[in-house]
Order: sequence, then C-alpha cells, then structure tokens
Amino acid sequence: MPRLALKMMLMLMLAIAGLGGCSAEDPVDADLDEIDAEAAAEVAPAPEPVTPAPPPWTDTEVEVKRGSTIAEILQEQGLKYSEVLALVEASKDVHNLEKIRAGEVLTVRTDNATGSFSGLLYPLDRHGEERMLVLQGADGGFTAAKVARDVVRVPVPLAGSITTSLWDTAIGMGLGWDTVADLASIFEWEIDFNSQVREGDAFRLIVEEVRDASTGEVLRHDRVLAAEFKAASGGSFVGYRYEGSDGRVGYFNAEGMSSKKMFLKSPLKFSRISSGFGKRFHPVLKKWRSHNGVDYAAPSGTPIRAIGRGTVNFAGTKGGYGKHVRMRHNKTYQSSYSHLSRIAVRNGAVVEQGQVIGYVGSTGLATGPHLHFEFYVNGAYTNFLRQKFPRTEPINESERPAFEAMRDDLAPRLAAIPLPGRDTTVAAKGDDDASDGPSDADAGPWTEPREGR
Ligand SMILES: [Zn+2]
Repeated sequence: MPRLALKMMLMLMLAIAGLGGCSAEDPVDADLDEIDAEAAAEVAPAPEPVTPAPPPWTDTEVEVKRGSTIAEILQEQGLKYSEVLALVEASKDVHNLEKIRAGEVLTVRTDNATGSFSGLLYPLDRHGEERMLVLQGADGGFTAAKVARDVVRVPVPLAGSITTSLWDTAIGMGLGWDTVADLASIFEWEIDFNSQVREGDAFRLIVEEVRDASTGEVLRHDRVLAAEFKAASGGSFVGYRYEGSDGRVGYFNAEGMSSKKMFLKSPLKFSRISSGFGKRFHPVLKKWRSHNGVDYAAPSGTPIRAIGRGTVNFAGTKGGYGKHVRMRHNKTYQSSYSHLSRIAVRNGAVVEQGQVIGYVGSTGLATGPHLHFEFYVNGAYTNFLRQKFPRTEPINESERPAFEAMRDDLAPRLAAIPLPGRDTTVAAKGDDDASDGPSDADAGPWTEPREGR
C-alpha cells in the first residue's frame, strides 16, 4: 500500500474515532511504539535495538498510473530505452514487468552518491512482503532476485462500534478481509450476525500489525491475538488466540474453554432471518401453517455450511423442500437445509462443521431464494434460535500454564482499550466481569434471540 494512502487511512481512522463511530489508537504515537516494542518482544522476534546506519541509497515509491508502461516509468527515472529493455529481460524469470497494472506501487532506488537510478523494487504479493529487487551493476547490467522484506509484528489495540454490520465497521477501520474473517470466526460462536448484532454493539481487539522493520511502514494486519465483543445491552465475551504445541490454533475464553461450540450460530455467514419459527401465513400455500424452521434470506448461490459435524442422511429432491440435505449430528440432533440451488454432498457422507453442503436457491415451494433451515431434537422440530449448546472442549491441561500466562499478559491490555461511545470506567468494570468467564459470557442478550425478524 502506498505510504500516502496509509497516512490518509490513519487520519480517517482518527477522524472517525473523534466522531465516536470507531476508534483506533494512533500507531505512529511514540509512546505507544515503545510499549508495542516491548510487547513485540514477547510475541515475535524483536527488531535490533541498535539503529542501523542509513543505507547509501534512497527509495522512492512510484504509483503506476492508468495506461502507463514500465518503459515510461523507468525513462522518467533517467534510464535509457535500451536499459529498460535489459532490465525487463533480466527480470523475466522472477516477474514479467511488461504486465504491470495501474495502482501498483514500484519502489525506485537512487544511489545517494551519484543521484542516479540504482535499482527497482516490485511487489510480488498484495502487501509487498515479498518483492523483486532488480539492481544495476557497475557494468550497467541488471540482476533480479526475490527478496523478503524484513518485517516486525507489533500487537496494536483497535476498537470499533457497530453501525450497520461488523463487516462494514471492521473494513471501515482499515482491517483487511482476512483479519475481519478471523474476527467474525471468533465471534460467530456467540453471536448470530444475521439477527443479533445491534447498532451500538462494540468490540475491541489486539491485532498484529506487520510493519517494515526499517521504515515502520504498516504493510497489513495479521493475526487477531485477543478480541472482545460487548453488546450495547450489556453482554460480553472474549476470545484469546492460542497456538498449541501441536501447532493447532484456536480461540479460548478466559477459562480456557474453546470458543467453538457443537453448532454454528447460523448455517449462513452473512444473511438475514426473513421468517422465524412458529405460526405464519404461508406465502405460497396462502394459509396459516406452522413454520417448522427458520428462513434466511440470501442471494442464490450463497454457500450453506453444515452447522455441526455429522452424517448426511438425505441429499436429493423432496417435494416442497426442493433440493434438500438432511444431517444427523448424533443420537439427539439433526438439521436440514432446503430450497437449495445445488447440493454439494452425497448421501452417507461424513461432513465437518462449517463444510459447505450446498448453495442457496429457490427450488420447491419457495417464493424467492432463501434457505429454509430445520433443526430437530429427538426427531421433533425445534426452534434452533432458542437452543443453547455447550462449548466443545477446554484447553489441554498440559497447555494450561502457557495459555494462562498469555491470557494474563493480554487481558489487561485488552481491557485498557477504550470502547467508542462508552464511558471508560464502565468499560473497565465490564472487563472484570468478562474475565469471570463463561457464566457471564453466556448471560448475554443473545441467549434469548427474538425471532421473526
Ligand atoms: Zn421456511
């Protein structure tokens, strides 16, 4: 990302923070940088404390404009046309520079002594962590190589307040799609984003910023180390990232219970509930019927996830259900998914939680594309939105001391992040509550979802 765009993004974040929409502490603040450097030492290898001597060159970023070619860009930097050809030829095995695109940012390196072109850096990935370095030798020839940028990972605090959706807010804060997906995956065990997120709900997180080790330029956000969701109505829960000695990564609450539950909160990631469980006027049959499931409105083709691990015991067409998948999770629980446009599993298949079993459609008796979802307890239709399920498993006892040390480090830092639009003293008190664990977390407003929205 060009440095200018980053600066503008930061300014925007700060401006929004001032308005109370969402807030992000200023990552360029000097004091914070000191704290962050300490924190980074625990989480990732710290940068050398000794300031290295400045390099004998200067790097300047050049954004590729629409319609401009590598020849134009490099000729503007003082290269002859024949040199451009030689440079492009020398680079070919690493990257074809004839195919640069508008918006890409090249870095032109100038020799401080001569003031003339000495090399070119070209980003090979989205964030420029791996780049191609083309250097011009004393003989005028060019050599190209892949170089990994020297980066540091610095945990930074962020907070946001939800206006329309978690997705919009987090993207608006400048978080990347991967980070937002991470965040959603921590929260989705506790909140159904389709029905339970309300304006004024807020969250805070500690996320790793990947920065250029020498310039400090922020390249991207990476792993979410800890995150807390606070509903405007009072409920709260927290998740800490922990990587086990076996390399498995998960999020756990303060008690070390996995954030994962037996069932996902919703078979669709993002959608809205168009019809709840219970009596309603059937739009196709034109009479009062008991609605034995929950309808999620979503565009045709939206992936449908199995809410839990289980075995497919029906996959095919079934009357008014249209294309229909039914799953048996254990002796007690079954779930089914109807009106699919396409089925992605076979009868008898063992399906993992979250695996895509099909896609939203409008087959069977349906007025438009939606998912009709049914949940059965001991064979009887049950309102899924009113069910409470236990967490799956606690952290391994042998890993508990390491987890608790990590949690004790992160918890006070998470609690210190001011929530937008909240009295900080209230926020601090709420945090003590949150670290009390699952009893408090489970007493959130989403334990009694309102249906029919
Ligand atoms: Zn339905």
